[in-house]
Formats: sequence, C-alpha cells, structure tokens
Amino acid sequence: MNTVIQRAGWSRLPLRAAAFVVLTCVAILGVSFWREWAARDAVLKGAETEMANVVRSLTQHAEDSLDLLDSGVVGTVGRLEIDGTDPATMARLHKVLELRRKAMERVHSLAVIDDQGNWLTSPGTIGSTLSDDAFFRHHQLSPNREAYVGRPVKSLLDGEWVVTLSRRFNKPDGSFAGVVLATIGSSYLSHFYEQFEIGRNSSVALMYSDATFIARNPNNAKFVGRSVPGSALFREASLQGPSGAYYFKSTLDGADRVSFFKRSSRYPLVLIATVDKDELLAPWRAAAITRMLFVLALVMLIAVIGAVLVRHLQRGQRMAAALVEKEAHFRLLAEGSSDMVTRIGLDEQLRYVSPSSIRVVGRRAAQLIGTHALAGVHPEDLPQVRAVVEAMKRGEREEARVTYRNTHRNNGEVWLESNMRVTRKDNGLVDGLVAISRDITDQKKLETRLESLAIEDSLTGLANRRCFDERLGEEWARAYRERTTLALLMIDVDHFKSYNDEFGHPAGDACLRVVAHAIAAEMHRAGDLAARYGGEEFAVLLPNTDAAGCARIGERVRKTIREAGLVHSTNRAGCITASLGGAACRPALERTAGVGTLVEAADQALYAAKDAGRDCLMMAGEVTHLLRKASGQ
Ligand code: GH3
Ligand code: MG
Ligand code: MG
Repeated sequence: MNTVIQRAGWSRLPLRAAAFVVLTCVAILGVSFWREWAARDAVLKGAETEMANVVRSLTQHAEDSLDLLDSGVVGTVGRLEIDGTDPATMARLHKVLELRRKAMERVHSLAVIDDQGNWLTSPGTIGSTLSDDAFFRHHQLSPNREAYVGRPVKSLLDGEWVVTLSRRFNKPDGSFAGVVLATIGSSYLSHFYEQFEIGRNSSVALMYSDATFIARNPNNAKFVGRSVPGSALFREASLQGPSGAYYFKSTLDGADRVSFFKRSSRYPLVLIATVDKDELLAPWRAAAITRMLFVLALVMLIAVIGAVLVRHLQRGQRMAAALVEKEAHFRLLAEGSSDMVTRIGLDEQLRYVSPSSIRVVGRRAAQLIGTHALAGVHPEDLPQVRAVVEAMKRGEREEARVTYRNTHRNNGEVWLESNMRVTRKDNGLVDGLVAISRDITDQKKLETRLESLAIEDSLTGLANRRCFDERLGEEWARAYRERTTLALLMIDVDHFKSYNDEFGHPAGDACLRVVAHAIAAEMHRAGDLAARYGGEEFAVLLPNTDAAGCARIGERVRKTIREAGLVHSTNRAGCITASLGGAACRPALERTAGVGTLVEAADQALYAAKDAGRDCLMMAGEVTHLLRKASGQ
C-alpha cells in the first residue's frame, strides 16, 4: 500500500516539476510584459501632461494676442466716437495706427471701415468694399459693441491669411458708424509655433471653431483656410469638452497619432498639438525590446535547466522504481522462503532477519535484528561455528555449511543447518555474510534412528554383531593405549535347538529376548556392551575388567538367565540355561595377540563349558590350565 502511494507520488513528481518550471517561465514573462505595458502607459501619460502644458500655453498666447489687438481696437473706437471720421482726423489716425502696428509684430493690420464697408485708413485699398464680409455684416446688423473674432480671411492688403478682431463704433446718435478692424497674420502664428519642438512628425495648429485652419506648423501655406468639419475633434461628442486627448490614424500617411487640444474659453479658437505615437514611444520601445530580449534569454535558460532537471528526475524515478521492484523480488524470495535468511555484519550483529525466524528459532525478526548472530548457538557447537565464521570474515572461505544446535524459544533446542556465503563491497572487501538457515531437527532424529538401526539387533534390542565388532576393535585399541585390561564373555543358550523344536520358533524368539534382557540387566558400567553375536549366542564386552571381574559378571549373568525360569524340559535343569566362556587380557602385554585371540580364547572357554556339562562359566585361563593338566604338563 505504502509503495503504491509512494509510486503515485513519484510519478507525479517530474510532472509537478515541469509544471513549476512552466509556471515560473509564464510568470516571469507575464510580469515583464505587464511592466513594459505599464511603462508604455506611463510614457503616454507623461506625453499627455507635457502636451497639455504646451497646448495650454499656446492657447493663452492666442488669447493674449487677440486681447492685445482688442486693446488697440477699443482705443480707436473711443477716439472715432469722439472725433468723428472727417478726412483730417482719419489721416491723423492712420498715422497713429501705422505706428502702433509697426510697434507690435503680431498685429498684421489695423484699419477703420465706414458704415458702407469702405476703407477709411488704408489708401492702397480704396475702391474695394468689405460690405459683404462676415464681420462687417455682423456689426452692421447687431448693436452689440463687443469684440468679434471672425473666420480666417485673405487680407485685401497683401493677400495673407489673417484672423480678424473687430468692434463697431457708433455715430453720436447711436447708429452704426463703421467698424474698427485689427488682424493677426497666420504666418506670424505659424512662425511662433516653430519654436516649440514637439517631434519630427508632429504639428501645432490653431483652428477656428468652425474647423477652419488659422495657422499650422509645419506646412502652414498648405493648410491655412482649409476647413475640415469631418475631423473627429469637431464631430465626436466626447471631444467637445474644453480640453483633452484623442488617438487616431492619420488619413495622410496612415500613421498612429495622438492629438491634444484646448478650446479657448473666450474666443472661438481651438489649439491642437499632434504627435506621432510611434515617435513618442520609440525610446520606450527600444529599451523594452532590449529588456524583453534579456528576460526571454533568462526564461529560456530557466526552461532549459528545468528540462534537464525534469529529465534527471524522470531517470531517477525510473531507477528508483526498478530498484523497488528488484528489492520487492528479493524480499519476496527472502520472506517467502521457509528458511531463515539472515545478513550478518562484520561485527557479527544481525542486520537483517527474514520473517521465517519465528518458525526456525521461535523469535520475531525485530527481536533478533541488532543481536549477536551466534548468541543462540549451543556452547558445544560454538567453537566450530565461530571458526567457520572467522575464516569467512577473513576472506579465506567464500561459502560454508555448518550444522549445529541452536536454542529455540519454545522447543528448547533445534538442529540448524546454515549455508553461509561471504558478501563483498564494490572494492572487493568482505562486508559481511548471508546465512540461510533451516531447521534439520527432524532430519537429525531420523539420522540417529537410522544409526541405531544399523547397530542394533532388531530381535533383542542389544547391539548387533557389526556394532560389537567395531566396539571390540575400539576397546582393544583403548585398552592397549591405556594399558588396561579388556574382558569378553561368550554366552550360548543350551540345547536351544530342542527348545525351538518343542515350542516353535516364535517362542524361541521370545526366549531369546528374555535372555538378552537378563544379560543387559547385568551391565552396570557405561562402557559395558552386550551384543547378539549370532543365533542364540551373545557376547559381552567388558572394558577395564580383569579375569576375576569377568568371571564374577559371567556368573551373575548365568544365574540371572537360569532364574528367569523359562521352562525347557529337555534341558537337564528343566529350564533355560546358558553356557559362558570368558577371557580377559591386557592388550599392551600381548605382543603377538590381537582382537581375534581374545574372541578365540572366550570361544574355547565356551566350548569347554559346554563340554563340562553346560550351565556353567569357564574362563580361558582355566581352559589353559585344564589343557595343560590333560597333556600331563
Ligand atoms: P548346545 O548349544 O547346547 O550344544 O545345543 P544347541 O541346540 O543350542 O546347539 P545348536 O547350535 O546346534 O543349535 C542352535 C539352534 O538355535 C539352532 C536354531 O534352531 C536355533 N536358533 C538360532 N538362532 C535362532 C533364532 O534366532 N530364533 C530361534 N527361535 N531359534 C534360533
Ligand atoms: Mg550355538
Ligand atoms: Mg546352543
């Protein structure tokens, strides 16, 4: 379950990292774009403020100019109304007006016109009438004595475009007497606007409220007098305020432009300053492109590094998954096995123990990890196991198999067989052992059983002939080494053939078991061995026993067999009896003799006992003595 969750987390990790990198890149790009856009807005706003100031001061200039004109006009009106318009007065006035005009650069002309529209002060224009001009008709028809600013017109004096400012003057009776007219030249205004450097592709224009150009810089000559009633400034309702800015596409060159305008509050004039938007934004654009290129380079660097990291993560993840799978396989093998798998460090501590430890040694893995690996080994087997482990740690043995007894928490003691193998680090140095241990207690029991079967006589339970022969050889060698005596009794049941004949073979077998039991009952020392020698013959091996001891034991055995009281009518005693032949020797002293000599001596003694009438014990020494006696020595 844990692994599944971990894996799910792992698989999403590179995806998350990739998403993080993408988000970071997008965020950096987004913030940069937003900042640049804000900077662009700031540039436009700055330009708006700056242009608004320019436009305001130029509007002021236009108003001041008209005010100046008006002051002259007002003075002239006053004099005309007092002095009248007789030729002498007019000639004087003409001089005054000429002086005044010359003194003020911006005044194009100052003139007086009579009630018929004829010039009174400009002799060069005598003959022409202004009776049809808009300003004249205005004053003629309106009793209003206020100044009137008219549409731009071409001057009759020199053909230049001018703006007119005029007032009517009255006769003493209050009727219309004529008009005092002052004009400003369009070229004067245009030159004045030249001083303001507001950009290459830009312009400043003064317009009459009916959308006619009064003056413009540059290209004044081309525009002056032209009417553009279709222009947005005069058409759109939103632009009818006193001042403002608006964006439009030029109909002349298709470029984006920004116009800032201000309407005069006192005169029917509008001042417009127009700048090229591209030009305005050019410095910002250059800096923004440089900055954005830098940001893009940074983002690309982050993306590349991010991609490399994500690939590393993916690779790491694949490796980790493979490792987990591999580990899972090994765990499955170790933990699914009924054998106990252990990993032992160089300090002989258990580093890993598989769960089957509960079955093998009765303890849980968690209880064993960190404990000494040989702690449970039986003290008798410990030296052997330790020697093997030490040799493996030194690198002298790669693998080994040891069989030993180990404590089991519930079962006391079990036999274990451990297959051990050395583990090495990458540099080849031994870093521990892996041991696979299995419980072989049952196998051991079987072995013991088989061993006993091999040495035991199945009928009587005494040692069999093979076992007797082996022990005889061993005891002879020991007695030889230790210079002790070794005695042997050969026992043969008397007239057993007839017992069989009388009672049958099964009864004979039962009789042999009783006899064997009687013999075994007299074996008091650990080293004594009673064996079935063959048929109804038994042999008793008595280490460290001399002839007297042998005779004593033989006599006891004879008695015990007889006292068993097994009825045997054809035997002289009426019950089962046996004849015994005993022999004892000190092998170390018997230079020429061997194992066979002892058996032969006991056998001869047995035959002698038979000859002596059965149910008796005859010692080999006695046999020798009797033989000597018989041969007369
Ligand atoms: P003696 O030794 O006194 O001279 O007479 P005996 O009859 O005992 O001598 P013999 O050696 O001739 O006979 C031995 C008999 O023991 C022969 C056989 O029937 C019997 N015998 C040998 N082995 C077994 C056995 O395993 N079971 C039974 N029931 N009888 C056996
Ligand atoms: Mg016999
Ligand atoms: Mg016999």
